[in-house]
Amino acid sequence: MTESDNHIVAEANRRRTFAIISHPDAGKTTLTEALLLLGGAIREAGLVKGKQSRRAATSDWMEIERQRGISVTSTVLQFPYQGRHLNILDTPGHEDFSDDTYRTLTAADSVVMLIDAAKGVEPQTIKLFQVCRLRQIPIYTFINKMDRESRDPLDLLKELEDVLGIRSYPMTWPVGAGGDFQGVYHRQRQVFEHFRGRQEEAEVLQVSGVDDARLSDILGAAAAEKLLEDVELLDVAGEAFDLDRINRGDLTPVFFGSALAHFGVQSFLNDFVQLAPNPTPRKRLDGTVMPTDAPFSGFIFKIQANMNPAHRDRVAFLRICSGKFERGMSVHHVRLNRPLNLSQSQQFFAQDRTTVEEAFPGDIVGLHDPGLFQIGDTLSAGEKFQFEPLPQFSPEHFARVTAADTLKHKQFQKGLQQLSEEGAIQLFRMANRTEDLIIGVVGRLQFEVFEHRLRAEYGAEPVLSHLPYKYARWLAETPVDALNYDHASCMIVRDQQQHLVMLFSDDFALRWVSEKNPQVRLYETSYGL
Ligand code: GDP
Repeated sequence: MTESDNHIVAEANRRRTFAIISHPDAGKTTLTEALLLLGGAIREAGLVKGKQSRRAATSDWMEIERQRGISVTSTVLQFPYQGRHLNILDTPGHEDFSDDTYRTLTAADSVVMLIDAAKGVEPQTIKLFQVCRLRQIPIYTFINKMDRESRDPLDLLKELEDVLGIRSYPMTWPVGAGGDFQGVYHRQRQVFEHFRGRQEEAEVLQVSGVDDARLSDILGAAAAEKLLEDVELLDVAGEAFDLDRINRGDLTPVFFGSALAHFGVQSFLNDFVQLAPNPTPRKRLDGTVMPTDAPFSGFIFKIQANMNPAHRDRVAFLRICSGKFERGMSVHHVRLNRPLNLSQSQQFFAQDRTTVEEAFPGDIVGLHDPGLFQIGDTLSAGEKFQFEPLPQFSPEHFARVTAADTLKHKQFQKGLQQLSEEGAIQLFRMANRTEDLIIGVVGRLQFEVFEHRLRAEYGAEPVLSHLPYKYARWLAETPVDALNYDHASCMIVRDQQQHLVMLFSDDFALRWVSEKNPQVRLYETSYGL
C-alpha cells in the first residue's frame, strides 16, 4: 500500500456517517444540537432549525418553504469528536417528510433511533425503521425526555421487540423518571451519572458495581435497591451484548437520557463513536465496493433544487463509497458514459456552503447539477461499474396528472420525466392505458413543489386529480389478467423501470389481495426486484 492509500484507509476509519430517525417532536433537533455542542461545532443552541434566522425568501419556491415553516435542509452536518469525523445526515420530518427522507437513509452506515419515553414507538419511526431493516444497518436507540413522566423502561424495550421486532441491550439504565429522575447507570462502565436538574452539571460517579453502597447514599435505599434488581434482571434474563448482532441490525444498544438537559448524551456519544461502524461496503450490480478500495467511487442519493434562491440551480448529493475525492478530479459518469470534471463541490452547514477540496469514504459532497444527475447515478474514477439502484418506497398520496394546455404536451412530458428522475415525485403509468400518468409522493408538500417546478422550470401547467390510494406494493412480473382484485379499491400500474405495482386504497384491500393471490408476493419497496 502506498502512503496515500494508507491515508485514505485512516480517514475512512475515522468516519461515522449516520442519520437520526424519529417521529416529529421526539427531540431530533434538540439531540442534534446537543451532539453539535459536544463536538464543538456550534457554541449555542438554536442554530439547527434556525427558523428566525432564515434568509429572506426571494422566490416562490422559498415562499412555499416559508409558509410551511420548513427549514432549508442542511442535508449533512459534520463535526469532529474524539478523533472521529461524524457526518449526521438530516432526515426531513414533519411536513417536509418526503421520498428524500427515505433515500437519505440509504447513504447512512448506521442510525440513531430516537424515542420519546412517554410515547414509545410512533408511526413515522416505524416507517423509517423498516427502511433501515432492509439494509440491516446497525440501530442505536436513545430514549429521550426522561426528565418528563415516562413509561416503564422495560415496557418500552418490550415495545421495541413487539412492534419493530428488534431485541435490545440497554447500555444504560434509568433511575426514576419525570420529577423523580435521578440519572442513568452504565452497565459496562459501572458509572452512575447523577441527574441534578436541567441547568446543573451531571455528577459522574465511578462505582465498583451496581451494588456499590455509595449508590444508596445518593439515590436513597429504595431507588438503589430497585436499580440493583433491574440491572440483575437484565443481566440474567436480558440479551447479552453482541457487537456482531448489533452490526447486523438484529440487536439495538439502548441509552436513556434527556436531550434538552444534555443529559446522557455524552455517554451515548462516547459509546456510539466507538461501536458504530465506519463506512461499510456497498453493493454494486456485480459485487461489492469496499471503502478501502483505491479508486474513488460514489453515488447520488438526493437532488435538491434551488437551494440558492438567487440561481435556479440544483445540488446533487454524492455519498463517497471508496477512495479519495479531490475537487477538480475527473471521473466517469457511468449512466451517461462520459467523463465529468468535479470542479464545483460543496459542503453545507446549516445555511452556509463551503467548497470541498477533498473528502473520504463516508463523506457527503454536494455537486453543482446543471441537469446531469439522476437519483442512484454512479460516479467512478476507476472501473466503470454501477452501484445497486436505490429502491423506491411506497408513496402515500397519489394523483392522476394531465397537462392543462395540450399544446404544451412536450414540455409537460419532459418535466414529468425529469422530475421523476430527480426523485421529486414517483411516476407510474396505468398498466393497460399507458397514456394515463399517475404520480405518487410520500409527503403531500411534494405535490406543491412538483406543480411549482413544472410551471417555473418547464412552462407547463399540470392538472392534478387526487386518487384515493394510500399504498403501493411492488410485485414480480406476473400475468395481470390472472390477478384477483377489486377494481374499486386497487389499481395496477407500472413504475419507470416497468416493474408492476399495485395501488391500494386501504389495509383491507391490501389484505384481501394478499389472501386471494397467494402466489403473488407484495413488496413495500422496489428493493431487490
Ligand atoms: P423534533 O421535532 O424531533 O426535531 O423535536 P424538537 O427537538 O424540536 O423537540 C420537540 C419538543 O420537545 C421541544 O419543545 C423540545 O424542547 C422538547 N424536548 C426535546 N427533548 C426533550 C427532553 O429531553 N426533555 C424535555 N422535557 N423536553 C424535550
